[in-house]
Amino acid sequence: MPSLHKVTRWLQPSCIVAGPITAVDPQALWRRGIRGLVLDVDRTLAPRRQLVLPETVRSWVARVRRQFKVYLLSNNLSRRRIAWVAKELDLPYCLAARKPSRSSLRQVLKTINLPPAQVAMVGDRLFTDVLAGNRMGMMSLLVQPIDPDGRPSRQDRLYRLELRLLKALGLPTTADG
Ligand SMILES: [Mg+2]
Repeated sequence: MPSLHKVTRWLQPSCIVAGPITAVDPQALWRRGIRGLVLDVDRTLAPRRQLVLPETVRSWVARVRRQFKVYLLSNNLSRRRIAWVAKELDLPYCLAARKPSRSSLRQVLKTINLPPAQVAMVGDRLFTDVLAGNRMGMMSLLVQPIDPDGRPSRQDRLYRLELRLLKALGLPTTADG
């Protein structure tokens, strides 16, 4: 059983991004030695319950894939949904990942052939994306959930709740990077 202190530390994102995934600056990651990106799908790339990809997401992905190894890692069980996103973005994917379990993440790192220190996990949830990335020893980026127009979703109560939790745990919640 990991100690409370350890769990608390595992919940702290390396970076709380002030915006959706498209606000992530690829060059800043590159300068920190990051060469691979593992991306969550639901509410990170595609809005909740809708089969749409904002144009801003398409162009951001088109840009980063030229430099980084990129892989989609989703807890969603729907192959129809995740395969659609993967096909639209022309990226490899893994579904039913069971984050924060590390097993699928380990498999992805093996596939892209990069050590954890060179890969960032990007997602909108502390208890799945951030926790999984941190447990793997990867950089973890918490992004704001996205809406169909590519703006931060205004209705995401869970995201706000998780930020409040970080604060309650005495961890920094100010946007960084
Ligand atoms: Mg998500």
